[in-house]
Amino acid sequence: MSQYMSSVVYHEAKQVRVEEKPKPTPAEGWALIKVSHAGICGTDLNIYVGAHPRAKGPLVLGHEISGTLVEGHPTLPAGTPVTIRPLLFCGECEPCQTGKSHVCKDLKLVGIDRDGGIAEYVTAPWETIHVIPEGVSMKLGALIEPLAVGVHAVRQSGFVPGDTALVFGAGPIGMCVAVSLKLLGAGRILIVEPHPFRLQRAKELGFETIDPREGDVTQRLLEKTGGMGADYTFDCAGHPSVSEILTHVTKVRGTVVTVAAYKKPAPIDLLQVMFKELTLKGVRVYTPKDFEIAAQLLKQDFDFEKLITHVLPIDEIQEGFDLLLGGGDAIKVMLNLEEGSQ
Ligand SMILES: [Zn+2]
Ligand SMILES: [Zn+2]
Repeated sequence: MSQYMSSVVYHEAKQVRVEEKPKPTPAEGWALIKVSHAGICGTDLNIYVGAHPRAKGPLVLGHEISGTLVEGHPTLPAGTPVTIRPLLFCGECEPCQTGKSHVCKDLKLVGIDRDGGIAEYVTAPWETIHVIPEGVSMKLGALIEPLAVGVHAVRQSGFVPGDTALVFGAGPIGMCVAVSLKLLGAGRILIVEPHPFRLQRAKELGFETIDPREGDVTQRLLEKTGGMGADYTFDCAGHPSVSEILTHVTKVRGTVVTVAAYKKPAPIDLLQVMFKELTLKGVRVYTPKDFEIAAQLLKQDFDFEKLITHVLPIDEIQEGFDLLLGGGDAIKVMLNLEEGSQ
């Protein structure tokens, strides 16, 4: 076996190249994984444009991966299909000490703070390795990580089956929140999205949609909900034009969930929070349990393939970035790291 592997390496703003790197060797307590598929995330785009505060080149990108175990795992045999929960936590701070390591004060991620998985091989600590359930393809296996974000958002929101939910944004995370809501029992799900392709895809997947280019979102949502608003509003857009209306579109005593990462402080109408006794809830990444639930959800009857609009070979990484940054017709763009497969 070659001691080198192809990998996608970030150097500095707009400088990402496919390079040969030494194949990693797993440390004690870590295992080696041969990567099959890897998704490009909004975070990767942020790193690519040089806007991520922590990522420093040279860095192998990628934290949404599927693959097969090669060696180094104490219980799982070689060949087991797996994904990784890409969180690196300190283990010592108060959240870590009280079982909430996903909000570790010094939370770090694979593919941001250390080399990631848009490469032929990646290493991961044993406790972050999750088995991809039987019947779930390698392609869908690479969707477990973003889907776990959706599962976490829905479970943390306090959501009750039958409730009406409003989701801002039909990008990968908005869609993963919407799918989680659907499969976990939401009564009604409405998605607000201005991009025509994403809006159309949301419709095809059976969601009610609101096109903000066609008029006032608050007014249209209130019309659609008998003047009440949504029980739960999930902000997966992270745009000031959305933050401004979040508390207006949410029902009396409803909940606003912040899923998107705002780059700057954004306006929010707190008077509505007080008048309507709203709950504001922030959510970040996922717990091991959310990861397991996301893996199981992929076995359910839903056309997850429609969320993955592109699967590119590693050499076309630049096309992937250009497509997503140029606002092209795409939702999740993945790379296939297995030469000549599927
Ligand atoms: Zn991601
Ligand atoms: Zn910690």
